[in-house]
Amino acid sequence: MPTRNKIRLPSMTPGTSRSIAWLRFGHAGARPKVYIQAAIHANELPGAMALHHLMPMLAKADGASRMRGEVIVVPTVNPIGQSQLVGNNHLGRYDLLSRDNFNRNWLDLSGAVAERVGRRLSRDRAANVDLIRKAAVAALKAMEPANELQTMRVEILKLSIDADVVLDLHCDMHAALHLFTAAPDLEGAAQELAAELGVEATLYNEPFAQALTFSGVNGALWPRLAALFPDAAIPQACFSSTVELRSQHDVNHELGASDAANLYRYLVRRGVVAGRAGPLPRLKSAPTPISGMDVGYCPLPGFIVYRLDAGAKLKRGDVVCEIIDPADPRGPKARTAMVSRTDGVLFSRKRDGGLAWPGMVAYRIAGAKPLAHRLGMSGLDD
Ligand SMILES: [Zn+2]
Repeated sequence: MPTRNKIRLPSMTPGTSRSIAWLRFGHAGARPKVYIQAAIHANELPGAMALHHLMPMLAKADGASRMRGEVIVVPTVNPIGQSQLVGNNHLGRYDLLSRDNFNRNWLDLSGAVAERVGRRLSRDRAANVDLIRKAAVAALKAMEPANELQTMRVEILKLSIDADVVLDLHCDMHAALHLFTAAPDLEGAAQELAAELGVEATLYNEPFAQALTFSGVNGALWPRLAALFPDAAIPQACFSSTVELRSQHDVNHELGASDAANLYRYLVRRGVVAGRAGPLPRLKSAPTPISGMDVGYCPLPGFIVYRLDAGAKLKRGDVVCEIIDPADPRGPKARTAMVSRTDGVLFSRKRDGGLAWPGMVAYRIAGAKPLAHRLGMSGLDD
């Protein structure tokens, strides 16, 4: 059976305290090690639903001695965000105290690891992986986080930083199933996950994720160190991905059970759980670079209404949505159309009828061709 564990976070105000529950399936130290968390953006709960259905499957495998590797599950990783109820709204994306996005400013450990083991790195890939993982955990143990949020980041990274696979489950406001990864992971691990989950779009960062998202810092530790030590043999030892499980309201037993079944088959295919995964489903659409992602920024204020649903395939010039000036009496002339600047998949958008303001992101489209206005833009947009 899984072991149940708790991370206690330091109290921030007199009389309050929070903790993070996490579970281990299989044996500590067994490989491959997979780390899966949900709800770092605390109001994104489709991942928690998938894990709700996945955990009994893992417990059953564990009970039948079918766990080959280790799986760490953190069903709701962010108790700070869970507690942010304001006027009957759950505000889970930004820390109300620091206004920090909960999925930014995770720790880039490459400097601390370089300092600890730089001189001992060699041409031996396996030895380097072992050295780097231990140094990363040691660097985290040496840290003295000052508050609850920093403690959460340090303690969670201690669980994930030495994993072979890190999956961070999110969702968008109104979206098709998609995932973010990095170019080094594309062949093999990422495409396998994309095919197994049946995603509508796979977006990859090049050469790796620059943004300090949770998934970003876990995966990018390796190429960052490889760049610092070009003579050492440093492989991409961790495959990390931000998985966007559709829309915030896409939480039901059918989706939860099918996502869990797909994740379980992925674990079987990766050799974490014994069994037969069967043939890999076909990838629904080819992976596309972040530089080819068209991001629609609202040009003016009003309210928004969409012409296309999430998951729609569209062509350059197609109208995605309109911003309506509520006080303009001219009917159709009161509408400002926003059009796609690429051919691709509309994988994320907002809800119909919301307020729109200048600069607000109205949609994202996965396109194959790098776009001039996107080149040089940094990575993940979960
Ligand atoms: Zn998110």
